[in-house]
Amino acid sequence: MDERKTYFVDVILPVPINNAFTYRVPFEMNGHIKVGVRVVVPFGRSKLQTGIIVRVHEEVPEGYQSKYVEAVLDDAPIITGKQFKLWNWISEYYMSPLGDVMNAALPSNFKLGSETKVLLHPEYEGNLDHLTDREYQVFEALEIQSELDLKEISEILGIKTIQPVIKSLIEKRVIITQEDLKQKYAPKTQLFVELAKDYQSDEQLKALIEVLGEDKRKKKQLDALLTYMQMGGFKQGISVPLLRSELVEKGASASSLNTLDKDGILCIKRMEISRLEDKGEADSEFKDLSQDQQKALDEIRASFVEKDVTLLHGVTGSGKTEIYVELIQEQLDRGKQVLFLLPEIALTTQLIQRLQRYFGDKIGVYHSRFNQNERVEIWNALLNNDTSKFQIVLGARSAVFLPFRSLGLIIVDEEHESSFKQYDPSPRYNGRDTAIVLRAFHDAKVLLGSATPAMETYFNAEEGKYGLVSLDKRFGDLMMPEIFTANIKKEKMQKTMQSDFSGFLVEHMKEALNNKEQIILFQNRRGYNPVWACEVCGWNPHCKNCDVSLTYHKNSNVLKCHYCSYFTPPVGACPKCQSNRLKMIGFGTEKIEDELSIILPGVRVQRLDLDTTRQKNSYETILRDFDERKIDILVGTQMVTKGLDFDNVSLVGILDADMMLNRPDFRAFERSYQLMSQVAGRAGRKTKRGTVVIQTYDPDHWIIQHVINHDFIGMYKNELIERKNYFYPPFYKMINLTLKHRDPNKLDMMAADLADRMKAVFGSRVLGPEFPVVKRIQNSYLKVIRLKVERDASNKKVKKLLQQKIDDFYSVAYNKSVRIVIDVDPL
Ligand code: ADP
Ligand code: ZN
Ligand code: ZN
Repeated sequence: MDERKTYFVDVILPVPINNAFTYRVPFEMNGHIKVGVRVVVPFGRSKLQTGIIVRVHEEVPEGYQSKYVEAVLDDAPIITGKQFKLWNWISEYYMSPLGDVMNAALPSNFKLGSETKVLLHPEYEGNLDHLTDREYQVFEALEIQSELDLKEISEILGIKTIQPVIKSLIEKRVIITQEDLKQKYAPKTQLFVELAKDYQSDEQLKALIEVLGEDKRKKKQLDALLTYMQMGGFKQGISVPLLRSELVEKGASASSLNTLDKDGILCIKRMEISRLEDKGEADSEFKDLSQDQQKALDEIRASFVEKDVTLLHGVTGSGKTEIYVELIQEQLDRGKQVLFLLPEIALTTQLIQRLQRYFGDKIGVYHSRFNQNERVEIWNALLNNDTSKFQIVLGARSAVFLPFRSLGLIIVDEEHESSFKQYDPSPRYNGRDTAIVLRAFHDAKVLLGSATPAMETYFNAEEGKYGLVSLDKRFGDLMMPEIFTANIKKEKMQKTMQSDFSGFLVEHMKEALNNKEQIILFQNRRGYNPVWACEVCGWNPHCKNCDVSLTYHKNSNVLKCHYCSYFTPPVGACPKCQSNRLKMIGFGTEKIEDELSIILPGVRVQRLDLDTTRQKNSYETILRDFDERKIDILVGTQMVTKGLDFDNVSLVGILDADMMLNRPDFRAFERSYQLMSQVAGRAGRKTKRGTVVIQTYDPDHWIIQHVINHDFIGMYKNELIERKNYFYPPFYKMINLTLKHRDPNKLDMMAADLADRMKAVFGSRVLGPEFPVVKRIQNSYLKVIRLKVERDASNKKVKKLLQQKIDDFYSVAYNKSVRIVIDVDPL
């Protein structure tokens, strides 16, 4: 670029404002600016922000003096043109500022901002010979000041393009950013156990084992040593370091390991573990497909000739994964990339391991549970078109943001899952629908897989917009589970209930336990009791910030709000009438766990819900324990419905079907069908037909009947009529606007104002404003306005009109204090 010319750049910043911001480029940066590189720019009062250049031009902004770019951070663009196209689509379709989209898209390590600080690298050995003068200046400053931000470095050096200096210093391992320091160098070492040198031969080892075996007091040490050997610690004359924690888990006593260390038999030492944990080589052959699977695979291939998107509707246990595997391999053979999207929670389970056994380190897992460095590693490998790695990316919805170069196939497994939709913060995008848009930029194919497809998806398939392939038999001719209902109403009258359990379910549980089979119980609520009420006056404790009852959590003995983080100790007497007859109504996972120990003494019960899985890995640990049969009954929320495959579960209990069915939401029936069918699918996989018991007051409910008959299509047809009659998706598209304000009176007026403006263009397609089920959250009152438009209306037009009305609304000074949350295609 011309050195003397004055250039301007448009930059997107991570702020919720719709437009890009224009900055002037200092002459000395002319050679460094490019679309897609990050720059540091002043924003607001004396604040610096990092943004991405989206346009370079020479148009002088009118009406204000533009500020200068402070620093250029990259040599080469960090996003591709295709990514930027996707950002724009999301921003427009979901009515979300581009800055919000950027925030969601970039791993946080990329968001170097004014807060980013650099420090001396903790492992820097002090050799200064190879530093340039500028690098040395930074080094010297850091010796005195210990940390510097980007602006300070720029001042010290007296130049604005500091990125090359910083980059070089990072590469030379002289400095490190604070974020890296926190993430990379803290927990990445662990204790390992290794056989001491003196014993690393078969003879020595044999002698040692004999000596230990003679001394009764050393039995535990011998056991620990044998455990180490059994786990492959010493093979063919070579000792292999094993994780101490794994040895202990396998039964080696920690104190014996310590004694062995002291006696010089084993060494315990701290070692670095590799970052992308050892998934190693692929070591499994593909399975031979059954005839049905092969037929489905052929149909999918045929469908892809004509359709870009195909739905694989396959019942639980039909072996969809093995079909995916064949399709993935095809893409690898063509040198194409594959994106495999899964709901967040299913990602931690068996599926990753299953795919890794087939594809080894060709798979990258992009997942919020992993630390940022792993995310950046995958991002960079894709960006640099490093085809040796991560040709397959397994990820939750945010994986759609990766810099793919040439996608051949996107698989969306469990496509009906509501967790594909991001609710907070904006952008409120649906990963499945975004994937279908991403598809077009690569001319790739999309395969949607589910046993219980979303209404919209099945509708699209029926209409011929998507291809449709069905697999209605389980693999290995396994039968679908047998589903019964337990009639709570009757049992209450006959007094056969044992607290919240029907006699019918208890009988089945006893039988399963007698047969040494395992049980899954599904309850869509965590905590102990949703409501704690006074028997005399009906009072119940509410959150002080939100309009919801508090939930009792027995383990921590507090009443908690599930909407904000408010909690308080339980009260002994009713504050309203002073009675002490406080009673628990309803039941959550925690209470079930307690009751089971009374009804079935000695039974090993474990909960699986948000509360028990907060810690890293606890989810995996619980599932492993269940798989290893250390748990008899797993009690859980939605989490137990997700793609788990255990071969000893013979019974599934659904404890409260009515609660799901009665939710005030147009998707309540669809969701209930999905949840019940999915959790039922966990019963009886390998060895025998499973049993499912649904507890309900209303066994004749049509949804329950369709679940019993495994009749998805019947459910779909019935529900579709309702949707049509009441103007819901898939016939209408919805946009919800939630207005939030601390003052309920002002909120009323503002909501009415906005609704009127909307009605002026959309007429009766506007519903509300009305209070949502929960009227107040975190001290803000809420009102919702819903817009329903015909599905063939132009998306662009609708959103443009709506945005205009919102802008008009905000142009009135009085309205500025209200916050509007826009949710396009709400779930
Ligand atoms: P889905 O995802 O459709 O519910 P899975 O892919 O998990 O079903 O398959 C169910 C079970 O059947 C798994 O344990 C899987 O290993 C097994 N299975 C599926 N297809 C085959 C096959 N062709 N050969 C051997 N086992 C298979
Ligand atoms: Zn009372
Ligand atoms: Zn609250």
